[in-house]
Amino acid sequence: MPPSISVPLAFLFYGIFLLMFGRFASSAFAGLVFGYVCYDMLHYATHHFPMKRGVLLWLKQYHLRHHYKDDHAGYGISSPLWDYVFRTTRR
Ligand SMILES: [Zn+2]
Repeated sequence: MPPSISVPLAFLFYGIFLLMFGRFASSAFAGLVFGYVCYDMLHYATHHFPMKRGVLLWLKQYHLRHHYKDDHAGYGISSPLWDYVFRTTRR
């Protein structure tokens, strides 16, 4: 995500976390940022790294099907969990 969007969003989320978590806001925000960076790295890897076996190959195929076969299903990148919750898995 470009900094012109991510930096204002970071301030917004930190403000929300201050309201929600008080003095623990910094810890919660660090968890959010860590999770987002992991998600973004995995997304980058599915597009650019050779994943040749196991769960990484499965995730790559799952995600690339979303981009190149059916962009109305399979939104999950790190797992299909929320696709099951929101019924956006492929038929
Ligand atoms: Zn992608």
